[in-house]
Amino acid sequence: MSDKLTFSLNTSTPQSAPANSQGGIQHEKVIIIGSGPAGLTAALYTGRAKLNPLVIAGHELGGQVSLTYEIENYPGFPEGLSGQELVELMKTQAEKFGARIKTFSAVTEVDFQNGSPFRIKTDDGDEYLADAVIVTTGATPRHLNVPGEKELTGHGVSYCATCDGFFFRDKKVVVVGGGDSAIEEGLFLTRFASEVHVIHRRDELRAGATLQARAFANEKMHFIWDTVVEEIKGSEAVEAVRLRNIKTGAVTDFPADGVFIFIGHDPNSDIFTGQLERDPFGYVITDKEMRTSVEGVFAAGEIQDRIFRQVGTSVGQGTAAAMTCERWLAEHETVEAQKAVTERH
Ligand code: NAP
Repeated sequence: MSDKLTFSLNTSTPQSAPANSQGGIQHEKVIIIGSGPAGLTAALYTGRAKLNPLVIAGHELGGQVSLTYEIENYPGFPEGLSGQELVELMKTQAEKFGARIKTFSAVTEVDFQNGSPFRIKTDDGDEYLADAVIVTTGATPRHLNVPGEKELTGHGVSYCATCDGFFFRDKKVVVVGGGDSAIEEGLFLTRFASEVHVIHRRDELRAGATLQARAFANEKMHFIWDTVVEEIKGSEAVEAVRLRNIKTGAVTDFPADGVFIFIGHDPNSDIFTGQLERDPFGYVITDKEMRTSVEGVFAAGEIQDRIFRQVGTSVGQGTAAAMTCERWLAEHETVEAQKAVTERH
């Protein structure tokens, strides 16, 4: 159902030679894991610093932002632009300064516990050593975990209005959640759907005041308060959602053709279990200079930020991580060179 991959992504493999090769293991100065705004910004900065970074992009270049229909709040683009356009521009700019982007490849395993150079494996069987690593793996939309959700994903259940909204022209859809994402995406869906019903577990929205005002003024938007979705029903496609009012306990089947779920995100940090210190929600912990618990490993963007989650803040964090990384590499190389001189004498 999703048409998100039809945009002409430039699927380049690394253009220039790797920094070094050791027994089939490619040795790089800097590896950036993830290709959202934080990762591509870190690539731009480390590229300009002549560190020849390698970005392991994951399976969707740009991550979550590439699914965003229109970005109106990224400075410098007063007319707004699509997430995919922004990602393409960021990629082109990073490549201009020597960044290499390895697409359709995801990291499956890291060893950060034995110090630099760090070992990294990808799902296409490649293995790398990296003197420094910048982690920018972002976050993934949260699921409701109710019966029918998994079975009907792609058949009326979606986590991306930009990708799938078009398929619901003149249909009735529900949006689950009460935050900025739910309201923003719900408003976007009113371009296609005949009715958009926001189902929220409380009686007031979490979304910001401007979005709320736009939502309440839109005649296609309707609100079902104090209510949770208990089941998504349908044989081949979504037909209804089973709702429970948490105040009265009343259970009803509400007919709908689509269910769009926007109830927050979880950080993509599983591969760092036991490798990097994380908070109770799974976000990688960094200091103000984007250093993680492991010297030589830095993190930026939504993998370490559960508060702001904006393109602008991710870009800022990617910048900071790259600058700290560059400084750390310079210091690290000096220390290593001094060690080598001492060993020779
Ligand atoms: P969010 O702010 O965490 O909101 C999640 C919503 O889903 C909340 O209303 C929450 O209800 C509800 N929810 C959570 N778990 C649920 C469950 N199991 N069942 C039913 N409802 C559930 O997430 P978000 O909307 O994705 O936004 C994340 C961050 O990105 C926020 O900081 C937001 O400001 C930012 N953001 C900004 C923009 C923008 O500036 N244009 C756009 C999108 C996102 P409760 O309210 O009861 O907790």
